[in-house]
Amino acid sequence: MLDILRRIVQEVSTAEDLHQALDIIVHRVKQALGIDVCSVYLMAPDRQHLMLMATEGLNPDSVGHVRLALGEGLVGLVAERAEPVNLDNATDHPLFRYFPETGEERYHAFLGVPIVHHRRMLGVLVAQQHERRRFDDEHVALLITLAAQLAGAISHAELIGEVGPRRGTPRQANLQIMGIPGASGVAIGTAVVAYAAAALDSVPDREPVVSVEEEIHAFREAVQRVREEMESIKLRMNGVLSSEELLLFDAYVMMLGSDSLVLRTIERIEAGSWAQAALRDTIRESTRAFDDMDDPYLRERATDLRDIGRRILTHLQSGQRKTEDFPERTILIGEDLTATQLAEVPVERLAGLVSARGTGSSHVAILARAMGIPAVMGVSDLPVGRMDGMEVVIDGYRGQIFLQPSRELREEFQRLVDEERELAEGLRNLALEPATTQDGVVIPVYANSGLLADINPSKQSGADGIGLYRTEVPFMIRDRFPGEEEQVEIYRQILSSFDPRPVTLRTLDVGGDKALPYFPVHEDNPFLGWRGIRITLDHPEIFLTQLRAMLRASQGLSNLQILFPMISSLDELKGALRLLQRARDELLDEHYVIPMPKVGVMVEVPSAVYLAEALARRVDFLSVGSNDLVQYLLAVDRNNARVADLYNALHPAVLRALKQVSEGAKKAGKPVSICGEMAADPAAAILLIGMGIDSLSVNVASLARVKWVIRSFSQARARELLNQCMEMEEPAAIRALLNNALMQVGLGGLVRAGKT
Ligand code: PEP
Ligand code: MG
Repeated sequence: MLDILRRIVQEVSTAEDLHQALDIIVHRVKQALGIDVCSVYLMAPDRQHLMLMATEGLNPDSVGHVRLALGEGLVGLVAERAEPVNLDNATDHPLFRYFPETGEERYHAFLGVPIVHHRRMLGVLVAQQHERRRFDDEHVALLITLAAQLAGAISHAELIGEVGPRRGTPRQANLQIMGIPGASGVAIGTAVVAYAAAALDSVPDREPVVSVEEEIHAFREAVQRVREEMESIKLRMNGVLSSEELLLFDAYVMMLGSDSLVLRTIERIEAGSWAQAALRDTIRESTRAFDDMDDPYLRERATDLRDIGRRILTHLQSGQRKTEDFPERTILIGEDLTATQLAEVPVERLAGLVSARGTGSSHVAILARAMGIPAVMGVSDLPVGRMDGMEVVIDGYRGQIFLQPSRELREEFQRLVDEERELAEGLRNLALEPATTQDGVVIPVYANSGLLADINPSKQSGADGIGLYRTEVPFMIRDRFPGEEEQVEIYRQILSSFDPRPVTLRTLDVGGDKALPYFPVHEDNPFLGWRGIRITLDHPEIFLTQLRAMLRASQGLSNLQILFPMISSLDELKGALRLLQRARDELLDEHYVIPMPKVGVMVEVPSAVYLAEALARRVDFLSVGSNDLVQYLLAVDRNNARVADLYNALHPAVLRALKQVSEGAKKAGKPVSICGEMAADPAAAILLIGMGIDSLSVNVASLARVKWVIRSFSQARARELLNQCMEMEEPAAIRALLNNALMQVGLGGLVRAGKT
């Protein structure tokens, strides 16, 4: 049964539109459960009614005609209660509503289960049987499982339907889709879909590039090339494989000449599609027929077909990408955008990025932040294939996008874009001003970095130094561990550029969501697994090389600070300090003259909050990594769009933890800084000032704003606001109070930069 379930869900997820998805569902479920009727009712856009959208068993003409209010009839009851209803004789139930056009009077047994996606009622899946009987537990369980699994696919198909028929007029303006913030900022532009070469599913819809004739010609050429490839493979394999096995390649060649492949694709091109998408749809259609078959041998043919599809596509794509013309304000869209795809767009045309997969730590997001380009990641519902050429608004602060914005929405965002530009220009003057509160407290603002390309922007933005240099970034963009000399060079550049301003180099922090391509770590629960200091302590050869490189890079300079990530116990800290000492001793033996740098511990695990004082006593400073600390305190994956609305740095538990860290550091007489994204949130920055945090480290794009906040408040006022917030129990109330405070001092323009 599990296998059937998996196949149904897989098939539904590749449907071209909602209707096809629903037809697949009713057909397959009826067949799999051996029932007489399977139907799907979906909520109408008014959210008050349900409409029969697909059926196998009832009169097909009634589809689109049967409409029930919430709570009306048995289907309405299921939707209203969000619970299954299982009856042996539906007609006996007082809520039974008879629709003569369906012909359902013949069916007695009724089982309806709700289809719910992220708390949203999408509709009802109904099974009916002629005989009077209650569906048994197994049927109920199966239908519930199916409905739960199908909800995502239905929601996705619905979304695609709302995006509009291919190349047609949009059905709904301002379609909003949530993802996670990748890089802050807002942008309006035209979507350009970047797709992986030879990946059929990522081919976007497009019109013929030059003409229908050209597309058909290109397609026929590509088919011919694959046919030749097959012939030559067959020749090569002659003697290696038996004649029986060689027949497989004949089957390939036959498929290549079949009407269902060639003619159907040409028909689609003639209907106005470019060859690549026409091929994609034909392969989908044909593989569906094979996928349907129970015979595993025949099902395998679907794999062969997909292989053929990919081969043809490879030929269609050769040489095509280079001619791509990027619009003035390109919003690059992709299933899983890569740094190289980003690099293909001329910088002056790149307005923003949206990726269906990936997180704020993905390379593209890191690059986007370095380039100051807004990015939204992890938009799992992104209808990538339908988006090419579409107008898109992206909000990198909140991690959301809007498709086909209405004039009003576009104007609203255009205002924001303009305001941001003005703000950035206005703030440029702040670069040379010190970050001093109104009552004279200096709170240095440092920049977070990971790319050498950041050096100049960081300096120009007026950063007081680098508060967090993520050394894993240079590790991630290589195809092997960088050697000691290589690392010395990188670290030296950054240290000397900022000297005498401090530069905090964090030791390698991989694991969790940050993978090195050449050092794969596969774990079921990577955020609680082997990451950060845990890896480097287990690999002293990697750690010592890095520590030596950092120390050597600081020769003759005095601004190096070293920071250890993910410390959760004193033991780990002691281990790390021992290795640092050893690295320095080695270098002294080798006649280098290197002073001991300042050393800090990141507080990003709850245990470190409780150990703050003890940790601080053993080092020179603490630095709170609020990105991880919030995720571990609230048990909310920082990269999961499904729970993104639970991730909140203004949660009272987070504020209490931060206060405790600050007090712990003070008791030990050591300074504490914050280097997570929280420090870049203007509202949160007020509280951090109030807590007596000694310095902040933020991404370059936010630096001037944070400075502006510091210069606009006195520490006394910030403390007052903090005390009020500490009495509050709800993050939303805390946010409202702080937004209000920002507005009062004329910083209303910064309110948007705070996440909710
Ligand atoms: C943090 O966790 O807040 C932090 C600064 O580290 P990273 O975002 O690199 O995990
Ligand atoms: Mg971290």
